[in-house]
Amino acid sequence: MAHPVGLGLGSNVGDRLANLRKARELLRGLSPDGTVFYQAPLYQSEPVDCAPDAPDFFNTVIEIEFVGDPYDLLRGTQGIEYHLGRETVREPNSPRIIDIDILYFDQKIVNGDILTVPHPQITHRRFVLQPLYDIRPHFVLPGDIVPIEEHLKRLDSAEPDLALVQSDW
Ligand code: ADP
Ligand code: MG
Repeated sequence: MAHPVGLGLGSNVGDRLANLRKARELLRGLSPDGTVFYQAPLYQSEPVDCAPDAPDFFNTVIEIEFVGDPYDLLRGTQGIEYHLGRETVREPNSPRIIDIDILYFDQKIVNGDILTVPHPQITHRRFVLQPLYDIRPHFVLPGDIVPIEEHLKRLDSAEPDLALVQSDW
């Protein structure tokens, strides 16, 4: 059975658009052929909790279908991160060529040492909520009671606005 899974993508090193496109193609390769695929627009955001001179991020969210369990998916996404040149050992929150976070995995809840799903930061980050809203406004995360659109409305407006880079990419 194929599970819909939401992935948050970010890049703030090198050719950010090219990095995200490469990640998208490799991630599509994790899905069975011909399954549904959604992608949000591309946004630019100021780094959160990073060094003051850290370059801006390009962020987006995609949804693919995946056959396997959440740990199989994590192996797949980490393999793609390393394949695209992300260092295995690095400072926390340092610039990265590609970051792939598992936002949700169908209706599953995982609370493990190396994997927490749904991703605990989704509802606090505009750079995740906005693109997720673009593709799944009515989705209610497993264990939650309000839809994504409500979380986006409630988000603390003190967080800097996102800039739309391009709707299609
Ligand atoms: P971050 O994304 O928090 O900036 P990393 O991408 O370096 O930092 O992730 C650190 C670790 O987070 C990974 O090694 C992974 O095991 C763990 N992790 C826990 N939950 C998730 C998730 N839902 N998606 C991706 N990684 C996760
Ligand atoms: Mg990550």
